[in-house]
Amino acid sequence: MKLSRAFYSFLSLFVMFYLTGLFADEIKTEKPSSEKAVQILKDGNERFVQGQGTHPHSGMDRVFLANKESQAKYAYATILSCSDSRVPPEIIFDTGIMDIFVIRIAGNISNTDEAASIEYGLFNVKTPLLIILGHSQCGAVSAVVQAKKGHAQKFEKNIPSLVDFIKPSVKRVMDSNPNMDEQKLLDLCVEENVCQSFENLFIESPATRELVKSGKIKALGAIYDLSTGRVNWLSEGKVMQILDKVE
Ligand SMILES: [Zn+2]
Repeated sequence: MKLSRAFYSFLSLFVMFYLTGLFADEIKTEKPSSEKAVQILKDGNERFVQGQGTHPHSGMDRVFLANKESQAKYAYATILSCSDSRVPPEIIFDTGIMDIFVIRIAGNISNTDEAASIEYGLFNVKTPLLIILGHSQCGAVSAVVQAKKGHAQKFEKNIPSLVDFIKPSVKRVMDSNPNMDEQKLLDLCVEENVCQSFENLFIESPATRELVKSGKIKALGAIYDLSTGRVNWLSEGKVMQILDKVE
């Protein structure tokens, strides 16, 4: 009789701990809100800048988890960034496996394929955050600036159609700042090119436009500064202005 009471006490304790464990797991895998996702990336970039990166979610336990779980349960940001080897998103935001859904292309332009990948990130991976990330000293943007100044480079067959996407933003900046210092001019063009990518994305993808407009996700532009390692964020209102303009 005594034994059976002890057994039942043990059993109820076991059930309690088991359920607590399940609940904790549920909390652990819950996706962050868009605001929280921005904060996670800001904190990660700060750790990176301070040389205190923790390289989270980078071990074999995460690999095994990724093998059996859907990334839609974990990834919290879709990021369109440049292919430039100096700007690896997972590292500069101190993130790991199944954290960010990344699309990389020279000049972080947004053509049909990039818009399709972004749609996948937002609607299938269900990330609550979309970022278009430009960076200082972007070679693709710089090439367009130089070409407009009369120092055109000879490119291989497929590159011109890509840089065509960067031309409108460079033209706007150069036309309204004819005497600007070269470095400042390039910085402005990089920022304007992020805006251009948002504009092209919103034209290509009405579904993305609706999602941003409804407030279900947050969309932000940002610029990575190669000289400091810091990501500088553009104002949230900027993206909404572009969205209004497209509509
Ligand atoms: Zn670049």
